[in-house]
Amino acid sequence: MNKDLSKLKNKLQRNHPLAEYTSWKIGGPAEYFYRPMDLEDLVQIMRVWQEEPIMVLGAASNVLIRDAGIKGLVIYLRNSLTKFDELDDSNIRVEAGVELMHLVEKCVSLGMFDAAFMSGIPGTVGGALKMNAGAYGERIWNHIVAVETINRSGEIKLKQAKDFAVGYRQVDSLAKDEWFVAAQFNFTRGEVQAAKQQVQTYLQKRSKSQPLDFPSCGSVFRNPEGDYAARLIEACGLKGKQIGGARVSEKHANFIINCGNAIAVDVETLMQEIITKVESSSSVKLIPEVHILGDILLA
Ligand SMILES: Cc1cc2nc3c(=O)[nH]c(=O)nc-3n(C[C@H](O)[C@H](O)[C@H](O)COP(=O)(O)OP(=O)(O)OC[C@H]3O[C@@H](n4cnc5c(N)ncnc54)[C@H](O)[C@@H]3O)c2cc1C
Repeated sequence: MNKDLSKLKNKLQRNHPLAEYTSWKIGGPAEYFYRPMDLEDLVQIMRVWQEEPIMVLGAASNVLIRDAGIKGLVIYLRNSLTKFDELDDSNIRVEAGVELMHLVEKCVSLGMFDAAFMSGIPGTVGGALKMNAGAYGERIWNHIVAVETINRSGEIKLKQAKDFAVGYRQVDSLAKDEWFVAAQFNFTRGEVQAAKQQVQTYLQKRSKSQPLDFPSCGSVFRNPEGDYAARLIEACGLKGKQIGGARVSEKHANFIINCGNAIAVDVETLMQEIITKVESSSSVKLIPEVHILGDILLA
């Protein structure tokens, strides 16, 4: 092992539990875990950590981390890369670890009302770019002008939005071992008060329709073309179905909630049962929106 790598390993946390970082409160440990201080620190890590796998997490609000955890290095960016700069009247540069709720607050205070759709999404800018997060007919990539990415050599590249193939809850043109570190957004300015009101309306809608009192990852499955995963799951009588500590929410059938001490295998088994039942009753094969990461715990 080279000297820099062994020095770095001393800075990292070993076998670090990840469940507490995830919105589901589920998951095994990271073999190595690190929260960079800033972008420069992240560049250094990438330069040194050349041999083993790297997994970048934002706020871990759209991942199911399996019970055996994740091998290699997990880099957690939430509240780590946090710069926010106003470039001009309608453009801002935001680093990947900024929470979307924080981004919305800042934008709204500037009157950028068309950022309001992100309110209530508990992710980071980086995770939202990777997922093409959206709500109420809007998607984050509708507002992206350019992004900055980092690779395993610690190289930062500036890329234009048009260089990416973005679709429903996915972005395909990111290379393996390439991650978002910042984005330039374009929003329209209007009345601050109207923007604040819009945020309140969206938050109220969410609390009426989503089981926000329980840990979850939001919607587990993508909506199939022209339909809703929640409708299909509910039509199979699966609301309230429970395996271990994982239950299909009574309030929103596309949410699986952790009602106590769910482990990842409970969630995965329940997901599999949902997929099988929905397919046999409606011939639609549901596709998970959540990213399933890591290793299965072997008995
Ligand atoms: C209550 C609740 C409500 C939700 N509502 C919505 C909603 O309305 N709309 C919606 O779209 N989603 C929703 N979500 C899901 C989730 O919040 C979003 O998908 C969010 O954008 C994920 O961001 P994150 O930072 O948590 O990503 P993570 O969960 O940390 O990561 C998701 C994926 O992105 C990758 N990733 C993370 N950061 C980076 C990076 N910097 N560069 C490259 N890859 C990266 C990870 O490796 C992983 O594969 C909801 C979740 C919850 C719990």
